[in-house]
Amino acid sequence: MVSWDFVEEALKGYKFPAKFISLIMICVTSPKYTIRVNGEGYGFFDGKRDDLMIFCKGALAPVAKVMEDLSHFSKVTGLMANLDKSSIFLAGVDDQMKEDLVQQTGFMLDNKQNQYSLLQAIVLAGRLQVVTSVLFSLHSFWGETFILPQSVLKEVDKKYREYLWDNTEGKRKISHVAWKKICCPKKFGRLNIKGSRLWNIAYAGKLFWQLANKRDSLWVKWEHGIYMRNNTDIWNHQPPNDCSWYWKKITTLKMVMQDWYQQGSYILDPQGAYSISRSYNKLLGPLSGMRNAELIWSSISQSKHRFITWLAVQDRLLTKERLKRLQIYVEHDQCCLCDQMLEESSRHLFTDCIWIRKLKAELACWT
Ligand SMILES: [Zn+2]
Repeated sequence: MVSWDFVEEALKGYKFPAKFISLIMICVTSPKYTIRVNGEGYGFFDGKRDDLMIFCKGALAPVAKVMEDLSHFSKVTGLMANLDKSSIFLAGVDDQMKEDLVQQTGFMLDNKQNQYSLLQAIVLAGRLQVVTSVLFSLHSFWGETFILPQSVLKEVDKKYREYLWDNTEGKRKISHVAWKKICCPKKFGRLNIKGSRLWNIAYAGKLFWQLANKRDSLWVKWEHGIYMRNNTDIWNHQPPNDCSWYWKKITTLKMVMQDWYQQGSYILDPQGAYSISRSYNKLLGPLSGMRNAELIWSSISQSKHRFITWLAVQDRLLTKERLKRLQIYVEHDQCCLCDQMLEESSRHLFTDCIWIRKLKAELACWT
């Protein structure tokens, strides 16, 4: 909010050399900015003298705090935010909250729904990263240490889903793609999230492998010493009535894996050790591939682009056409990129829209 003229005058006042002042002024007057969402830059825009973007949580208390700070800034500097040129952009809040926040700030509401859809897709890409890296490591620590009860595994998967699609309490629940379709490797066009139930079975496979091969671990020695004294073959072993829940559970899971194991299909890694992730993929059964999966998950594209394309090829992008199908209110349903007055659908946005066609044609001859 500092005037560039003031900066230049001040530098002259301090008698800096003219060439130095000119270099400083080039630096402060010609920057381009990008917004980083989940670690990735999103486009560029020119810096303007009075541009200021403030991000905060869309709730009354954080916004009140921002307004209080702006008011304090105004009192100290005498500079005021221009209400006619300021706007508030809201995502992920309900209509009542929107109204309250607009009233609280006095700013105009920037109501571009296309930005909302795009921002939501970017946010989903970030959520996917959190699920596959942070949440999965939390679960896999316990899932690779204990056989967990089914109710716990179901609850873990539910939490994954709710977080990924942002289906928090009180919000309209939209599961863009069925959970079963998500928990498969990317080469089959899925998101590569590991479903808790099968992951836990794949982990149990490691225990079987250790027991069946009498791997020299303290746990195997202990199990052989306590439960399998009279029968060292795990496949014919019957658990005693007074054994622990854990041992009963292992022998029940044996039924799930018996055929696979008796055919000698241990899923081992190249070093000859049991591989939980390879076994998990095997447990998923035969999978049908997705057309363009390699293109979608190409390492040269950014994660937000991959996620948007992945949703688009399955017709699961929250376009205005799909929002209407889901019976969610949209103010107007026309494409905001062209002036054809046509409904904004995935097909229109990626294929039919003349704005996109023109863009594709220009890209095609770009060398
Ligand atoms: Zn269009």
